[in-house]
Amino acid sequence: MLDISAIELQLKAKQSELEVRLRNVNNDLQRKSGPISQDFAEQATEVENDQVMEVISQETEAELQQVKHAISRLKKGEYSQCEICGGEINHARLKAIPYTAICISCADS
Ligand SMILES: [Zn+2]
Repeated sequence: MLDISAIELQLKAKQSELEVRLRNVNNDLQRKSGPISQDFAEQATEVENDQVMEVISQETEAELQQVKHAISRLKKGEYSQCEICGGEINHARLKAIPYTAICISCADS
């Protein structure tokens, strides 16, 4: 049996962690839109950093959506049900990726 309440706690902890990270990254991105430095080498570094932060921001956002989705699936009692084939998601897989919504065979195909 899956320990639903433990999983919910785990997912909620992950959610707050991701929300904090997202806020920090976005704050950083906004600060960077201020005056850029005169030095060309420094400008290039700033642009590069921005691109990295942009990617981190998008990835964090996507992960956060998955975590939120998993929490709502948990509440509906559909947590271990594959969204594609409707089959049971292997519990070991859920332990490894707590916010997955598809079973191993659907993930593989
Ligand atoms: Zn499936």
